Amino acid sequence: MSKHVTHWIGGKPAAGAAERRGDIYNPATGKVTGTVDFASPADVDAAVAAAKAAFPGWRDTSLTKRVAVLFRFRELLKQHAPELAELISAEHGKVRSDAAGEVARGLEVVEFACGIPHLLKGGYSENVSTGVDAYSILQPLGVVAGISPFNFPAMVPMWMFPVAIACGNTFILKPSEKDPSASVRIAELWAEAGLPEGVFNVLHGDKAAVDGLLEHEDVKAVSFVGSTPIAHYVYETAARHGKRVQALGGAKNHMVVLPDADLDLAADAAVSAGFGSAGERCMAISAVVAVDAIADDLLERIRARVAELRVGPGDDERSEMGPLVTRAHRDKVASYLESGVRQGATLAIDGRVHPVLGGAADGFWLGPSLLDDVTPEMSCYTDEIFGPVLSLLRVSGYTEALDLVNANPYGNGTAIFTNDGGAARRFQNEVEVGMVGINVPIPVPMAYYSFGGWKKSLFGDTHAHGMEGVHFYTRTKAVTARWLDPSHGGVELGFPTNG
Ligand code: NAD
Repeated sequence: MSKHVTHWIGGKPAAGAAERRGDIYNPATGKVTGTVDFASPADVDAAVAAAKAAFPGWRDTSLTKRVAVLFRFRELLKQHAPELAELISAEHGKVRSDAAGEVARGLEVVEFACGIPHLLKGGYSENVSTGVDAYSILQPLGVVAGISPFNFPAMVPMWMFPVAIACGNTFILKPSEKDPSASVRIAELWAEAGLPEGVFNVLHGDKAAVDGLLEHEDVKAVSFVGSTPIAHYVYETAARHGKRVQALGGAKNHMVVLPDADLDLAADAAVSAGFGSAGERCMAISAVVAVDAIADDLLERIRARVAELRVGPGDDERSEMGPLVTRAHRDKVASYLESGVRQGATLAIDGRVHPVLGGAADGFWLGPSLLDDVTPEMSCYTDEIFGPVLSLLRVSGYTEALDLVNANPYGNGTAIFTNDGGAARRFQNEVEVGMVGINVPIPVPMAYYSFGGWKKSLFGDTHAHGMEGVHFYTRTKAVTARWLDPSHGGVELGFPTNG
């Protein structure tokens, strides 16, 4: 049976005119399983109007009541996590355990947001001048929008909306049109948790929906996560329309392996972080940078592990890696195996011949692959492939490895594998990347720290969730107050100084 996914506006489904629709696929079968409505300008206006109408009431809802809704939402999310994982897996293709993992990481941000009364405390200074007190308060912005990518249909939106809503804003989510169902189920859970109508809305669609939000004068801030060219476009366009904006972009994450590393640990990490979720993670390792002395040994350990990987449909619990998200993306990723070889790399592991167990012939399959002898000018290195293809670059030592990482235009995540604490400490100090792992391949920060890259991996100056998220979704008001007392000194035209 074919499903039909539509918007969620003002606390209920809202089909609107639905002049345009997109297909939803099951990547494991290659078949269309449903359609999703694409928002028209009128739908954008309706979502913003609902969010705007809900704002005054939600802003003035006590912290105690806001947090009670968040706690209920947290319980419902936990309860329905397996169902969400199933929805995600059926549209994205990732295996269910991986989908459950993303729900769990999103849940951590909800739990962080449950502590919002503490996080929204301003400062207070008594007697900054005689009889004068000064304090600061953090207030919500109004209607804020979040635009998210296909690869984490639950977790990435949850980097945004729990904090935004806890701060007192109302929210419009524009999820990826490739896997839109999880966002609507999340909206239903919010409603069940008692969130007032219009505080959380979902608007489906493509560029037209995004542009409508970026240009709408009642949208005060935009959070975006996706590829670098679109992140840059969103950053520029939203800023031009006077909005606060954080736009997280693409990545090329390097894993540096020094000669003294535990090579079994490094091989496990390269395989897990390179091929988990079929490499469709912004924190996936895509470039393994190995010092010459151990590169051959590391490659053989990776090869042995890859041979054991079970590729198959996400709903088969024995599968460790699923298909890619679309046929076009699968073909583009596979094209790097050919271009890499043409440009001088060695195809050490060819994922096109990896067995697919239980997969339909028309699924978007590509097994784990590795290109060896990659050099920095090859397109398999310069481009973000976003699939199960590792590039192995060989370097003479630490300095060459560091220079390579720092010369790369992306700066999302990186990792170093070594048993030398001094080398690791130097790396964390010298590397120009936003998130660093030391013997940890995917260093996604906990919810109470903030997630974000440097350079072309993030436009704007605030990272997601943690205290940076709270700052992004609030603005500070500084109040200076005097209650009349006998020290009141009459007219004074000079600039206020304190005494
Ligand atoms: P994408 O940039 O194609 O799409 C992201 C969002 O932008 C979607 O909602 C999409 O509908 C919308 N969009 C697409 N084209 C648009 C256009 N021309 N104008 C306006 N809006 C447009 O990204 P994707 O393919 O869905 O996701 C994969 C990318 O996201 C990868 O580059 C990955 O590295 C990146 N990503 C980054 C992070 C991070 O934290 N930095 C996290 C996850 C994913």
